[in-house]
Amino acid sequence: MSLLTELEAAMPSGSLATDPDVTDRYRFDRTTWVEPGHPLAVAIPGTRAEVAAAVKVAAAHRVPIVPRGAGSSLCAGSQAVDGALTLSTEKLDRVLDLDPVDELITVEPGVLNAEVSAATADEGLFYPPDPASKTFCSIGGNVATNAGGLCCVKYGVTRDYVQRLEVVLADGTVIETGTDTIKGVAGLDLTGLFVGSEGTLGIVTRVGLRLRRRPDGAATAVAAFPTLASAGRAVADIAASGLAPSLLEIMDRATINLVEDATNMGLDRDAAALLLVQSDSPSPLRGQEMDAATVLCDAAGASYVAATDDPDEADQLLQARRMVGWVLEELGEPIWDDVGVRRSRIPQLLARIEDIAARHDAEAFTFGHAGDGNMHPVLLVRRNDPDARRRALAAFDDIIEATLELGGTITGEHGVGSIKAGFLERELGGANLELQRRIKRTLDPDGLLNPGRWL
Ligand SMILES: Cc1cc2nc3c(=O)[nH]c(=O)nc-3n(C[C@H](O)[C@H](O)[C@H](O)COP(=O)(O)OP(=O)(O)OC[C@H]3O[C@@H](n4cnc5c(N)ncnc54)[C@H](O)[C@@H]3O)c2cc1C
Repeated sequence: MSLLTELEAAMPSGSLATDPDVTDRYRFDRTTWVEPGHPLAVAIPGTRAEVAAAVKVAAAHRVPIVPRGAGSSLCAGSQAVDGALTLSTEKLDRVLDLDPVDELITVEPGVLNAEVSAATADEGLFYPPDPASKTFCSIGGNVATNAGGLCCVKYGVTRDYVQRLEVVLADGTVIETGTDTIKGVAGLDLTGLFVGSEGTLGIVTRVGLRLRRRPDGAATAVAAFPTLASAGRAVADIAASGLAPSLLEIMDRATINLVEDATNMGLDRDAAALLLVQSDSPSPLRGQEMDAATVLCDAAGASYVAATDDPDEADQLLQARRMVGWVLEELGEPIWDDVGVRRSRIPQLLARIEDIAARHDAEAFTFGHAGDGNMHPVLLVRRNDPDARRRALAAFDDIIEATLELGGTITGEHGVGSIKAGFLERELGGANLELQRRIKRTLDPDGLLNPGRWL
C-alpha cells in the first residue's frame, strides 16, 4: 500500500490533508524570511493512538515528520520540509485533569498557553511561563522550545513547570516520563531531555504541568534613562538588591519611538532606554518593592520614573511591550533575533547592536527581558527597500557573533530551528554537539523527526 493510503487507514476520515489549498496553510510559521518547503501531506490526528499510528506508518516508509503546534515559531522550527509529513497537534486540544490540591494540570499539546491559565483561574491558580505569543502558541510548542516570557525573571521558564510527558518516539513507541511528585530522582531526567528538543526527539502527546497560586495584584513602574549605561546600572542594582520583580523588561530608543508612534502614550522619545518593572508580591510587600525599585532607578540616573498599582494603567504599559511584534509586522518584514547575555552585559550588547546596525545600514529595534539578559534585536526589512533583507541578515549574523564574544547564548527562548544551526558548534563545542548527535541517533536512527533543524 502507498504511504497516503496507509495513513488514511490509520486515522479517522478527515485527518489527512493532501489538497494544496489546505496543506499550503501549514507550510509557514512566523519566520517570514525563510522560504518553507512543500509538505507531502498534513496529518491532523485527534488522539495519542492516532499520532502513534501515523508515526509508525511514516517510519515504515522512511518519510520524515515535522511536528507542528500552533506554528508561531520564530526560528523556522515548524515550517514544512519538502516531501515530509507535517503532523499538527491542533486537534489534541483537551484539558485532561486539574488537581487544585497538588497544583497540577494535565493537558494535550494543542492546548494554547493562555488556555492553561484560564482553565485554572477559578481555583486561584495560574501557569507562569507567559510568552508574548501566549494567546496563539501551544503548550506542545512551548515544551518543545522550552519557551520563556515576561515573568520568567521571577518564575522561571517552561522547563521549571513540566512534571510529566507522554511522548511518541520516532518508531511509534509511546513512553511516559517524569512524576507528579515534587521530588523524584528515579533514572535519568528524560523529561528534561525532551523539553527544548524542538521536535527532533519525539512528539509530545500529553503534558503534566505544575501550577502556582495566582497573585492578588501587581504594582508596575516605568523608568526612562538618558544612556544605555544608566539603564544597565538600574537592572544590575535591582538584581543585586534582592528584590524579586515579576517582570523587568527593557526597550531601546528605536523601540520606544516605534511604540510611541503607534500609541501616543507620551513616552520619552529621547530616552536611550525604558525599563518596565513589576512586582506581584503580596501587599504591602509589593508596594515596598516598587518603592525600592524606583529609588534604585533614580539613583542610577533615570530621567523619569513613575509607578502605579492601577491594573488598567499597568496593562496599557505591558500591552505596549507585547505589541512591538505586531507593529513591526505592519511596517515590513521583521527578522527576529533572540540572544542572551549575563545581565551585567546588557548595555554592552545593546551598544554593539547599535554599532552593527549602523555598519550594515540596517534598522534595528531591540527590546527584551532585562531581568534574565534575553534580548530580541529585530531587524526590520521595509517593503520599499529591495536590498534591506541582505543588509539585515548580515547584521543578524554579526549580532550573534557579538553575543558569543560577550560569552552569551545564540538563543534564549525561541530555539535554534533552521536559522541558527550554523552557530551551534561555536556555542556548544564539537564534543558536546557530537554527544547530542549520538543521543539523536539513538532515539531517531533514521533522522526522521524534524529533519534539517539543529541536529
Ligand atoms: C509575536 C511573537 C511573540 C513571541 N514571543 C515569545 C516569547 O515571549 N517567548 C518565547 O519563548 N517565544 C516567543 N515566541 C515564539 C513562539 O511563540 C514560541 O517558540 C512557541 O513556544 C511556539 O509554540 P507553537 O505552538 O506555535 O509551536 P510551533 O511553531 O508549531 O513549533 C515550534 C517547535 O516545536 C515543535 N513542536 C510543536 N509541537 C510539538 C509537539 N507536540 N511535540 C514535539 N515537538 C513539537 C516544532 O516541531 C517546532 O520545532 C513569539 C512568537 C511571536 C510570533
